[in-house]
Amino acid sequence: MQITVDLRSDTVTKPTPAMLEAMMNAKIGDDVFGEDESVAELEQKAAAMFGMEAGLFCPSGTMTNQIAIKCFTQPMDELIADQTAHVYRYEGGGIAFNSGVSTRLLNGYRGILTAEMIEPEINAENIHYPHTSLVVLENTVNKGGGSCYTLEQIKPIAELCKERGLKLHLDGARIFNALMHTGDKAIDYEKYFDGISVCLSKGLGTPVGSVLLADKETIHKARRIRKVLGGGMRQAGFLAAAGIYALDHHVERLKIDHQHALLLANELSKCNWVSQVLPVETNIMLFDTFEPADLIVNKLAEHGIKCGSTDKNRIRFVTHLDIQPHHVEYAMKIMKNLN
Ligand SMILES: *Cc1c(COP(=O)(O)O)cnc(C)c1O
Repeated sequence: MQITVDLRSDTVTKPTPAMLEAMMNAKIGDDVFGEDESVAELEQKAAAMFGMEAGLFCPSGTMTNQIAIKCFTQPMDELIADQTAHVYRYEGGGIAFNSGVSTRLLNGYRGILTAEMIEPEINAENIHYPHTSLVVLENTVNKGGGSCYTLEQIKPIAELCKERGLKLHLDGARIFNALMHTGDKAIDYEKYFDGISVCLSKGLGTPVGSVLLADKETIHKARRIRKVLGGGMRQAGFLAAAGIYALDHHVERLKIDHQHALLLANELSKCNWVSQVLPVETNIMLFDTFEPADLIVNKLAEHGIKCGSTDKNRIRFVTHLDIQPHHVEYAMKIMKNLN
């Protein structure tokens, strides 16, 4: 029997019955008036997990990142990020549009930067040069194939930023995947970052939403910017309740997604139509195909396996909450017999 296995993204998940029930029972109010209890609870809960002072619930990770960049820069400044960075590649040119800031792109290893790479790219004080004011890291790195920073690796970057007066922002769309892989503790992140974006609608499985975490002053400013961008939401507690539920119930289970990814990657490495499987650390798999990737994507789709190409000969699989063991088994069987 053919089933559908959607490996396109970890954003495709639907709320579980228990999450839906939590949403239905949410205490709500007008959050623009500051009266939604569930939104306030989510913001405080997420902030406390990472040792930050305050949080801001936003409709998307793009918005939390863009607000953070706006908070931490002035027009004519420059930020430093890896060339694969989501903030640069997949946020519609928002860095330039929203903040009037230029971007210095570095070539990290699978999107991972070091202090040694960043240091020479910080502009000296000179009227010719844009003022470097911000570094943005991504953990896990989406386009790096779910690669992770450990806190050990982040520490020297944070020290460099402090020394040179730069702010450090984390695009933590998949921060909990990174924490499950590295064994680092969320609470230790506060020491290093000025801002952290956390997506609730990726592996954590909520329908909508991300939170920006920072100190109280930054979040106060961020709240004004969210309003300007049209991100002030009214009875958003229904959505925040899904986030609270996810933080309580869907963090530890990310390990299952990682196990599923390893199983799929192992099978892929044995397939004669696959030329290379990149290292798998979390829930994202990148692999190369001999034939054009889109041809393979179409062949897999005929068997109900949905995925996407990221390059001419490269395909991406992403595991998530809605991928069950029987989906993995089915996908492995199809992959093995694909020709
Ligand atoms: C998904 C994602 C975001 C935010 O995306 P939205 O679709 O706007 O929520 C930000 N950074 C990374 C690395 C992502 O994968």
